[in-house]
Amino acid sequence: MANRLAATGAKVLMIERGNYLPREADNWSVKAVFHDRKYTAKETWRDKDGKPFHPSTFYYVGGNSKFFGAATVRFRTEDFEDLEHEDGVAPAWPWTYSEFAPYYDEAERLMGTHGTAGADPIEPPRSGPFPYPTIGHEPEMEAIADKLRSKGLRPFPLPIAIDRHKGGACVRCATCDGFACKLGAKNDAEVRLVRPALATGQVDLVLDTKVLRLITDATGKRVTGVEIERGGETKVIEGDLFISSAGAINSSVLLLRSKNEKHPGGIGNNTSDLLGRNYMAHNNTAMMAIHPFRKNKVTFQKSMAINDFYLANHHRPYPLGNIQGLGKLQGGMLTANVKFIPEWAMDLFATRSVDWWIMSEDLPHRDNRVTLDNDGTVRISYTPNNEKAHNELVKVWAKTMRSIGYPLIITQRMDITVSMHQCGTAVFGRDPATSVLDPWCKVWDVDNLYVVDASFLPSSTGFNPSLTIVAQGVRVAEHLARDVLKTSAAA
Ligand SMILES: Cc1cc2nc3c(=O)[nH]c(=O)nc-3n(C[C@H](O)[C@H](O)[C@H](O)COP(=O)(O)OP(=O)(O)OC[C@H]3O[C@@H](n4cnc5c(N)ncnc54)[C@H](O)[C@@H]3O)c2cc1C
Ligand code: SF4
Repeated sequence: MANRLAATGAKVLMIERGNYLPREADNWSVKAVFHDRKYTAKETWRDKDGKPFHPSTFYYVGGNSKFFGAATVRFRTEDFEDLEHEDGVAPAWPWTYSEFAPYYDEAERLMGTHGTAGADPIEPPRSGPFPYPTIGHEPEMEAIADKLRSKGLRPFPLPIAIDRHKGGACVRCATCDGFACKLGAKNDAEVRLVRPALATGQVDLVLDTKVLRLITDATGKRVTGVEIERGGETKVIEGDLFISSAGAINSSVLLLRSKNEKHPGGIGNNTSDLLGRNYMAHNNTAMMAIHPFRKNKVTFQKSMAINDFYLANHHRPYPLGNIQGLGKLQGGMLTANVKFIPEWAMDLFATRSVDWWIMSEDLPHRDNRVTLDNDGTVRISYTPNNEKAHNELVKVWAKTMRSIGYPLIITQRMDITVSMHQCGTAVFGRDPATSVLDPWCKVWDVDNLYVVDASFLPSSTGFNPSLTIVAQGVRVAEHLARDVLKTSAAA
């Protein structure tokens, strides 16, 4: 939003609770990132039973994308329509894919995505090639792609946003997915969006400043300011137009905390009572497919994806999900979670494994929600759904891996602490009774408040969300510049 609004001549103030993530050796240290959790937010939230947990979430300029796997994938035409799943229907979006597609073009350009047009067997229509050609597979992954093709599957290059073109800074290392890039070569939101926005001179950024609540005028129709906390002091910053981009959990926390006489259930809750509800985060499983005697020497493993099970077809009468390479696992990453197995044993597995991220859609449900306990602690009440489809996908993939020579399979299902694909807590739509935001992400009954982050997603789809969040930012910024701020002439 800041990047695109700045380009149209608007003056923007960004308020960020974190600071810049330092570029340092620890960015690539398994011990620092996974054991010491050096960069993870020092927060405690509660689950639906009140059990405390430490979420894997990151507060820095660039947000969670500092640690993202850089998979920048478009949702499918079918994802924008009612899509029938084994466990229910993923609802249609207020826009069709074809209305959204030009913004995907721009989002890929902004993020610097590498890919091969036409390689994904269920690719939605696109206007042209990716901004950069595919980063390609290393020989180990190429060999696996050949074996998968021999089984009738259609692996393709996963669209990836890293600076790996000619003259780019990326050295193609093994510590990308789940780590920050100490070279600044990952195309995250700080590098690709915030820094260029600051360079325009149109954007100011205040750091280490947490937004506590939004303040409205007496009518409740306009936000007049934000209360912020900085260095132990609180004060109010005023403005004309407000955009919450704090992430799906923290945006709803902010709007819930801002309740007042005109908005007793929190700002955004008057029309639908859906603020904080419909929390989604995907059904996610990490899989290690192990060949006991052959080492896997790959460095950048997140180069491949498989969509043969994404839509209903001859494999299954309902969607199962997407499979993609996982950043190469190392023994120490595994012992961070399973402490009773020695690191040498985990290393033995990790050096011989091919690792996958298996992701299936979870469906919106009003009881899956973000709330605030009386003591102010964030509570995530979440019961997974559509699990049958996910479990089938895990089984299908384990069987496939065995059939191509990996007899030993280890899987780990991700739990509530893994909120990386959080979305859906302030869904957008055309009916104020069933959505928190209008189709331009404006809170229905407030004239100058927008929520533009993963919150607006009415369905989680089976894909990584970041490219869609960027595309939506481009769309909403264009709308604001043209129709609200009237600054677009300068674009
Ligand atoms: C390990 C990991 C791997 C991932 N891999 C991928 C991937 O390969 N592909 C993909 O598409 N997605 C991936 N994701 C998910 C992706 O990073 C997120 O979907 C995306 O960053 C969400 O963007 P957002 O704008 O909604 O929120 P965020 O990125 O969470 O940004 C929110 C920002 O708001 C700030 N903030 C929060 N509360 C406040 C407050 N009260 N006051 C001031 N500032 C506040 C935060 O510090 C942060 O900077 C991954 C995430 C993780 C953690
Ligand atoms: S693979 Fe490239 S972008 Fe990713 S962390 Fe390594 S050098 Fe950085």
